[in-house]
Amino acid sequence: MKKKINLLIITSILGLIALSIIQGYLINNTYKLKKEAFITDTRRSISQLDDFSPALDSLSDIWQDNFLNRIADYKVNLATKTDVLNGLEMVIDSINETYRIEYQKELVKNNIPYGIKFHKKVKAIILLDSTRNDTLFDINKTPKRIVLGDPIIDEKAIGVSTTLWQTDHTSSRVVNGETQDVLFYLMFQTQDEMDIDGWKKIVFKQMFGLLLLSLIIFSIVIGLLYYSIRSLITQKKIADIKTDFVNNITHELKTPLATLTLATKMLKKEEVKKKPQLVENTVNTIERQNKRLQKLIDQVLNNSLGYNEIKLNLETVNIKNYINTILDDFLLSIKSKNITINRKFLESKNTINLDKFYFTTALLNILENAVKYSGDEVIINCEVKSINTLKISIQDNGIGILDKEKKQVFDKFYRAGNKEIHNVKGLGLGLYYTSQIIKAHHGNIVVESKENSGSNFILTIPFN
Ligand code: ADP
Repeated sequence: MKKKINLLIITSILGLIALSIIQGYLINNTYKLKKEAFITDTRRSISQLDDFSPALDSLSDIWQDNFLNRIADYKVNLATKTDVLNGLEMVIDSINETYRIEYQKELVKNNIPYGIKFHKKVKAIILLDSTRNDTLFDINKTPKRIVLGDPIIDEKAIGVSTTLWQTDHTSSRVVNGETQDVLFYLMFQTQDEMDIDGWKKIVFKQMFGLLLLSLIIFSIVIGLLYYSIRSLITQKKIADIKTDFVNNITHELKTPLATLTLATKMLKKEEVKKKPQLVENTVNTIERQNKRLQKLIDQVLNNSLGYNEIKLNLETVNIKNYINTILDDFLLSIKSKNITINRKFLESKNTINLDKFYFTTALLNILENAVKYSGDEVIINCEVKSINTLKISIQDNGIGILDKEKKQVFDKFYRAGNKEIHNVKGLGLGLYYTSQIIKAHHGNIVVESKENSGSNFILTIPFN
């Protein structure tokens, strides 16, 4: 059964891990899809923004005209490539601030709600004529960034589109006093890029419902699993305890029943009937075993009472006298072991109201256990403090109780799992009943113990 439960726990945990992985995978995929959809939407919204804005369009005209003029100079050797590029940067610098402001205005006009940075990054500038291609700029070869718009670091840049500006250009230049026609074909390639402020947050916001739902479902599954496994373990414990109880009680019943069978058989024999002394002895044995059986049944019936079924009959007792009497009577009743009881009284109040009958049973249960679960030399230290509450501690030098079992020993039918315990008779009801009696007196009972170092049962009850 234990193996089955362990297997069930392991399988459930593995199942849960697999489920988490699948869930994580699906969420990740959804995140990617949502991100893609969001970026595509934004890309679509802004891709033609500059084309339809007259302000941005005229700014483009300014730098493009300027740039074409410089190329014409370059074509007739009035400027170098570097001059052309520096010139381009200069003109872009001069219009950049206005471009950025106008672009932001366009975003507002088009109801684009999130903060977007946008720029055009020059990728390549190539001049073509009938004989050759002349590359003025190639971003892959020149690490320089020529950018119109907002500065965006490469890691954050999201591509919008690649645009190609192609134009035939004709103009004239005066070189060495002569007017020359300059004709060229320009290919100007830019990469439009954007950076959306807090786009991860926006995507996560869109996924919030999904994330929350999966979290709730997941928590419910884990909760249910935890609850089921816990119930299973509790059921198993209860089943074990019940089996133990049945075994114990059967064991307890067997001896008196066997003796009774034997005694009855003896009484039937003619030769026994003729000996009155033997008959009397046998009848006495039957009576003793009968009493024993009765006591056993009473024990099970009475000791199973819960604290609310215990009706107290309170009377005022002198604490010291009352406890001393119990200890003295107890010492007299045990003959099988050597018992020493050390007593210590720390009193400020002399009397207390309690039910003598029940409270005596509770103390005797603890004292009997101290003897049952100790070796042949039993030393019991009984300390009584009656200051704010009545606190009685009964410490023995017995086998002790494991840490994990300290609470359970007060449960109905519970018997600790020490190997030594199987030699000791018991039904696991004594401490349960004791704790119920103390509870009925509005007090509490705890045990301090370590395996093999004795146990100390401390019970506390209030004075009123
Ligand atoms: P039982 O009839 O088994 O003695 P109890 O309810 O009196 O039932 O005690 C419950 C269990 O607590 C015992 O089976 C034993 O394992 C443990 N126990 C109780 N008293 C002591 C003690 N003084 N020392 C060690 N173990 C104890």
